[in-house]
Amino acid sequence: MSENIFEDALSHLDHAKAYSHADDETIERLKHPQSAFEFSIPVRMDDGSLKIFPGYRVRYNNSRGPTKGGIRFHPTVTMDEVKALSFWMTLKCALVGIPFGGGKGGVAVDPKALSRMEIERLSRGYVEQAVDVIGPHTDIPAPDVYTNAMIMGWMMDEYSKIVRCHSPGVITGKPISMGGSLGRDDATGRGAYYCIKELEKIRGWNPADINVAVQGFGNAGQHVASLLHKDGYRIVAVSDSKGGIYRKEGFDVPSLIKAKLDTQKVQAVYCEGTVCETVPADHITNDELLALDVDVLLPSALENVIHVDNADNIKASVIVEVANGPVTSKADAILAKKNILVIPDILANAGGVTVSYFEWVQNKNGYYWPLKEVHDKLHAIMAREFNAVYALMDENKIPMRVAAYAHALNRLGDAIHAQGTQSYFSASV
Ligand code: NAD
Repeated sequence: MSENIFEDALSHLDHAKAYSHADDETIERLKHPQSAFEFSIPVRMDDGSLKIFPGYRVRYNNSRGPTKGGIRFHPTVTMDEVKALSFWMTLKCALVGIPFGGGKGGVAVDPKALSRMEIERLSRGYVEQAVDVIGPHTDIPAPDVYTNAMIMGWMMDEYSKIVRCHSPGVITGKPISMGGSLGRDDATGRGAYYCIKELEKIRGWNPADINVAVQGFGNAGQHVASLLHKDGYRIVAVSDSKGGIYRKEGFDVPSLIKAKLDTQKVQAVYCEGTVCETVPADHITNDELLALDVDVLLPSALENVIHVDNADNIKASVIVEVANGPVTSKADAILAKKNILVIPDILANAGGVTVSYFEWVQNKNGYYWPLKEVHDKLHAIMAREFNAVYALMDENKIPMRVAAYAHALNRLGDAIHAQGTQSYFSASV
């Protein structure tokens, strides 16, 4: 496994530079976060005791616009992880051409051990500590692992109270009734789905012949599975943090989602109306899921799940990184040798931040778009950028991740270059 997630994330920069027109100064700038803020959040617990939670917010780079990125509530959150995630956000926003830089935040907490009221106090406490950093024109958070629309709503409300001004543009992924955008809920999964649809055209796939396994059946994983299922793809395995299920005939995804929402567990069920019945399926571990003989593997949970010790076991011919950073750089090299196509995270899951951008634009204008407009605009961006990255990969015979980085570096390089680099300042006048 990778020793340091942030160092690992940076390791692709130098390689990608060779296929972009970004200069050395751009690469050097992108090796350092602009600012990294660490704070503590005191929370009064329901039993009257006080608990202190470590909080983080990193603004990685704002050359192309205000920094943008989610807030994660998870026990393993560290500053290095938040730096890596904010670095990827910088590249991701550039890759899809939206006018944002990259940021990210997190709290080291097990949210499952907190009551609803404790989570509300923690969410408001995060904003109280980060209020000088975040803002509609500076740094705009969004949901990530174990945070959701309701938490975004609390955070927006807290920020608005502190600054004495209704500020929906400070955060995206809000409930629709509080200024959220239609289509934000499934945007990450939908963006990945649009990438798969472009690949389907290139490879001439018949969806009914394609077996798919989904590791991490949460927000992003459920939506991409659901859209693929609707198109006839066979979803043969799904998992969550407690383990997974496998059925070679495939699952009825809406029934799985209903069972997961009702029970908080992945269960092999078939639902008719409100009645759900158990169907036969094998219970598998997350490691077994990753090694299944499927066509498409969707790691949709956390980082570093495909690493040097298990990359050789992967049998899928395509990996779509719905999660951020699921494949380490050492694993990447093994997968490349096995000729496995990896659609990288900064492309595959960029649908979320793209619709977050739409939400921010709508908040600024106070004018809201119909769902079809959101879908059409997202589809156009994802198809355009997927094909641009694919062409760069094909032309240079490089891994798709390197092509995606190079494509993003071109846009970042242009913005950094526009303010002058050594070649400009050292020229005689
Ligand atoms: P989520 O909290 O809704 O879902 C995460 C899922 O992963 C849960 O079902 C959880 O049980 C499962 N999980 C946790 N640990 C696991 C493990 N060890 N093995 C298997 N499953 C495990 O989170 P999400 O918003 O769907 O985010 C998932 C990934 O997608 C993250 O990497 C996140 O950064 C990325 N992402 C999310 C968005 C978004 O808009 N939500 C946007 C871009 C990227």
